[in-house]
Amino acid sequence: MRCPHCGHTESKVLDTRDAELGIRRRRQCLRCGNRFSTVERIQAATVSVVKQDGRIEEFSRDKLLAGIRTACAKRPLPADAVEKIVDDIEEELQRRGRAEVTSRLIGELAMGRLRQLDRVAYIRFASVYRDFADEDDFRRAVEGLQGESAGDGSAGQLALLPPDRTGARRRGRPPKR
Ligand SMILES: [Zn+2]
Repeated sequence: MRCPHCGHTESKVLDTRDAELGIRRRRQCLRCGNRFSTVERIQAATVSVVKQDGRIEEFSRDKLLAGIRTACAKRPLPADAVEKIVDDIEEELQRRGRAEVTSRLIGELAMGRLRQLDRVAYIRFASVYRDFADEDDFRRAVEGLQGESAGDGSAGQLALLPPDRTGARRRGRPPKR
């Protein structure tokens, strides 16, 4: 178990409890003293993900983690927030007990959690993970965000979107506006 803060491999266990996917342990790094959680997983049934274009691939925790981590980069979030979202989504998928889910569902689950956690991360995710949602979903997300943020001074958050992700890669069509 590597400390996510300093990379040290020794930690002590503060607390152990059952989680849906295995055993969750609260640990404290023996070098830097930071606390983090780990889940020692039991072998969960694999879930296939049906993509927008019809391709099917096995659900990848790492891929989802990477996408959410990218969206949350440099945001002021607790160190274990990203892992926790992915744990939640994985548990939710297991709970549903379906052998196949759509990529759109996974995207929606992630966006639902990010929306509550951090608006900037949420809108970044919507753009980075566009595979998961169609163009209309993305547009609605952006419009919804603009509407919500009107008047509270955070409208400038949209400027944090990397310009190359706001439409340039969109199947050769020029971005609207
Ligand atoms: Zn550490």
